[in-house]
Amino acid sequence: MKVLKFGGTSVGSVESILSLKKIVEKSAEECPVIVVVSALGGVTDKLIATARLASKGGDAWRTEFESIYKRHKDMIEAVISDAEKSEALLKEIDTLLEQLRSIYFGVSLVRDLGRKTLDVIVSYGERMSSKIVATLVEGAVWYDSRKFIKTERKAGGFSAGGYHFAVKQGLAADYTYSLVKETFKNLPRIALVPGFISRDKDTDEVTNLGRGGSDYTAAIIAAALDAEVLEIWTDVDGFMTADPRVIPGAFRIDELSYIEAMELCNFGAKVIYPPTIYPVCVKNIPIKVKNTFNPECVGTIIKEKITNDGRPIKGMSSIKGTAIITVTGLSMVGVVGVNQRIFSLLADNGISVYMVSQASSENSTSIGVREEDVDEAEAVLNKEFAKEIETGAMFPMRVIKGLSTIAIVGENMRHKSGTAGKLFSALGKSNISVIACAQGASETNISFTIDAEDLGKALNTIHDSFFGAEYKELNLFVCGVGTVGGALLDQIRLQQNNIFETKRLRLNVIGVANSRKAIVDRAGLDLSDYIEKLSSAEDCRCAEYVESIIKMKPQNGVFVDCTASEEVARLYKELLKCGVSVVAANKIAASGDYEALMELRKTALDHGAKFLFETNVAAGLPVINTIESLVNSGDKVLKIEAVLSGTLNYIFDTLAGGTRFSECVRQAKEQGYSEPDPRIDLSGKDVIRKIVILSRVAGYKISQSDVEKNLFIPAEFFDGDVDEFWKKLPRLDDEFGSGAKRMNEEGKRWKFVAKMENGRASVGLQSVDRSDPFYNLTGSNNMVAITTERYKESPMLIQGYGAGAAVTAAGVFGDILSLACL
Ligand code: ADP
Ligand code: ASP
Ligand code: MG
Repeated sequence: MKVLKFGGTSVGSVESILSLKKIVEKSAEECPVIVVVSALGGVTDKLIATARLASKGGDAWRTEFESIYKRHKDMIEAVISDAEKSEALLKEIDTLLEQLRSIYFGVSLVRDLGRKTLDVIVSYGERMSSKIVATLVEGAVWYDSRKFIKTERKAGGFSAGGYHFAVKQGLAADYTYSLVKETFKNLPRIALVPGFISRDKDTDEVTNLGRGGSDYTAAIIAAALDAEVLEIWTDVDGFMTADPRVIPGAFRIDELSYIEAMELCNFGAKVIYPPTIYPVCVKNIPIKVKNTFNPECVGTIIKEKITNDGRPIKGMSSIKGTAIITVTGLSMVGVVGVNQRIFSLLADNGISVYMVSQASSENSTSIGVREEDVDEAEAVLNKEFAKEIETGAMFPMRVIKGLSTIAIVGENMRHKSGTAGKLFSALGKSNISVIACAQGASETNISFTIDAEDLGKALNTIHDSFFGAEYKELNLFVCGVGTVGGALLDQIRLQQNNIFETKRLRLNVIGVANSRKAIVDRAGLDLSDYIEKLSSAEDCRCAEYVESIIKMKPQNGVFVDCTASEEVARLYKELLKCGVSVVAANKIAASGDYEALMELRKTALDHGAKFLFETNVAAGLPVINTIESLVNSGDKVLKIEAVLSGTLNYIFDTLAGGTRFSECVRQAKEQGYSEPDPRIDLSGKDVIRKIVILSRVAGYKISQSDVEKNLFIPAEFFDGDVDEFWKKLPRLDDEFGSGAKRMNEEGKRWKFVAKMENGRASVGLQSVDRSDPFYNLTGSNNMVAITTERYKESPMLIQGYGAGAAVTAAGVFGDILSLACL
């Protein structure tokens, strides 16, 4: 015979309950089956919440109750088509629901909710669901599990119903086993049993096996009757390498040993309730985990001897809400019995310890407990060691709350060295600090505690490093949605699918912000309507936006700065400190204070992040990366000569065509080539910033003030405001007009050239003839000539559009993709 357990998710919807019917009826063709069912998905939570509401008095609970009522009635109407059966069932469920309504009413009058009452209330979930399934499945015989699953009061047992009361229940195992054997002496083809619920063997009160306990009901029955197999039917394809709700790339494990499954479940793998494994393990009964929604899938098999798949770890799991309490003192060194005192005391107080770490110096023992137990643990330990604390031989207990514990599990760890090394180096690279860790000598589990805020990032990091993600993911936060930012988001939207398919890289835009507002969605924003969403979003300054990113601690986070804002550039350091990489089209940080830039680079290095700014010079042209590669390979940059201003190109081209100089400047502004204040271009400021950046990348310590400026416009033109500048400008028309004429006659052209030679940089207007590579540059074209030890006689030339939204955005896109190390 087989035992099949269907969880809340498998009886939660019409679709799943009909699939259950098919699975059970097909299984019963081969051998007798005992089917254990949970309450309809979410009903236990609802029963508890309604009870808490009722205990506050008043009538608010009635609305909640009505929804429980309706949920069951609707389900019956949808799945039971036979009118006679449906009527009989509705009558039965009605009786149960009326009893439940009376209990809630009583609670609301008395305004008190004790353990016994709550245990009775939650029992209705399984009582009703099992009746529905028993009517639906052809030939099923219903059994009342309260008659044969018996509990007793026990320290260290499970908290009844998962809510915390001093009295805990444990299984009265021998008694239960004999009752189960007796009950199923004559097995029908299909037996239908409500999971979870039980009775106290001494008081006959209704009890239960703890939240998620239907798995345990099924395991007890399977063990008592020596079943051939225990099948756990749920909503995932099997036991996965991690919780698929947290790690989308988690995948099904084919086989697990009992020990591995037990370790994973104990540390939070919700798919099986932890006490479930032991009863079947001692009887060597295999457990299969199967998907009700995808019965064809083979699922996972848990048994004693499994095939070695060569992987060092099988899976990982985690628990939130943990705390560490540390007992320290020099008097502990070499003294026998301190640990014995600690652990007996905790056990006597019913506090469960799930992790212990003691350094070989023996002067401190760290103990992992549930956060809700830690205050009590602290109090009892301080009391126990009061004398030692008073004399200074020991210190008062140290408590750290707000933690999560992760376990990585696999029997192969025993035979493979380097698992711990790989684990901790992956965490280190992701900037996650480990607060305490433990590995037993059995070497099937390494557990460690981290700040709860780091949990998601840590799980993803470890999963990636041990299982290789099915795909990579970059989580992007774009700041600035003007011409470049807007073009970038369009490019991402159009390329997202293609990149996922061809490179297995998911580009997730989680946040988008302009200078006033921001929108953030952890699941990824839909880029087709971000403009409307942004305009109706709440006000949010850039600093607040960055703060929210830092709080989120995104894994593989990338902040993309498409602004020209100094305020935004000042935020990079905090982002890098949290391991979030920065891709900047904004030139301020790379061209600003030299020491500050070095500090940013160091911060990035220390925290496993990157700071990239390829588009700071010549938009999408690969200038910075090229210089960096040359330097990295040991080459030395001797000289850089470059035409880097499309605006000045435009002005001098137009001038050569006979237009007045002031008119050329005006046209450059009107056509959108120049900055709104054209003095920034005409003073060479923008070009200075660019040559500073290139020189720094080439390894020279240069700042903007070191650059020699050979201005072609007298300095006094830059005094005063921009209106005055426009007024004064025509005074230069004659001089530039005759100059341009002369240049035409000599066959020469003016180009604004930036130069760096052996660490000295300058910018200025140069007249170049036909033989010069810069001669033919027009419009927004840029050219950079790099002379190095290896490219000496003939410098390396990089040429192309050096401005424009689309090419700049493409350069930013390139920086982003390079972070995925494809
Ligand atoms: P049921 O109602 O069937 O008892 P549960 O919600 O108790 O279902 O357990 C199934 C859920 O367990 C899955 O939906 C999944 O989110 C979660 N889960 C956590 N860890 C794992 C894991 N390692 N493998 C599979 N599922 C897991
Ligand atoms: N219905 C119970 C719960 O939600 C038992 C179970 O589902 O296994 O905890
Ligand atoms: Mg469950």
